[in-house]
Amino acid sequence: MGVVNAQAMDLLCVLLESRAHQVLPDAVWLGGQTHVYQRLRDHGFLGFGAAMASAVLCPDCRMGSVYPGFDVVEGKVKYSAYCMECGPMTLTKEQVWPWSVNPARVATLIKSALKLCGMSEVAELVPGRLWHLGDREHKRVRRGFFFGCQLVACAVDVRDAMASVAAPGSEVLITTSEPPALLETSLRDKTVIPLRAIAGLRKGHFSIESLDAYLSRRNVLSLTKKKQELTLIYSVQLIF
Ligand SMILES: [Zn+2]
Repeated sequence: MGVVNAQAMDLLCVLLESRAHQVLPDAVWLGGQTHVYQRLRDHGFLGFGAAMASAVLCPDCRMGSVYPGFDVVEGKVKYSAYCMECGPMTLTKEQVWPWSVNPARVATLIKSALKLCGMSEVAELVPGRLWHLGDREHKRVRRGFFFGCQLVACAVDVRDAMASVAAPGSEVLITTSEPPALLETSLRDKTVIPLRAIAGLRKGHFSIESLDAYLSRRNVLSLTKKKQELTLIYSVQLIF
């Protein structure tokens, strides 16, 4: 159970850092990690992508691609395909739709786990990249909490967006982006906390540990660099 939960958190971070935030259905079952993806789905992190895959590997012979189609029968969608080797076959929705992670949904779950009050919804500040989760006082200092992904390429926009809603130096940026890469950007002097280091799936719940240790350090990025370099990254087939 614990191993699957840890793998699921690692996979979530990888998906959030992939450009399309999704993985082909083939990669789910070929990678032998269907149960890990399923764990993320159970927690509401994963849904289906915006469009059905145009082609998938034949699940029977695995020799070539089949091209899924669908019919609506008595109000239910039935997926099917034809393989030159195996003939006609029916497929499930999980076999023909990409599995997708919604970063705005992740931001909402982080906000809830942090028990942040004062804002009814998370606010998207940089499209698809940065969300303001809310504010909270920590040791008599008001801090603004943010969640971001794929920050390296838009670091200047992220810095400016945080400055528009939080006092300089009060920002707490939780992210799936790798700290060593952020050290080379204009976010180098911000309080950046890797999601992977603080979040977990435990006893059926998404939880975040105390941030005290991170908020009492001056430069979290340099201190977390070594830890991140040792982190095992799971390799999955992603859509780019
Ligand atoms: Zn086949």
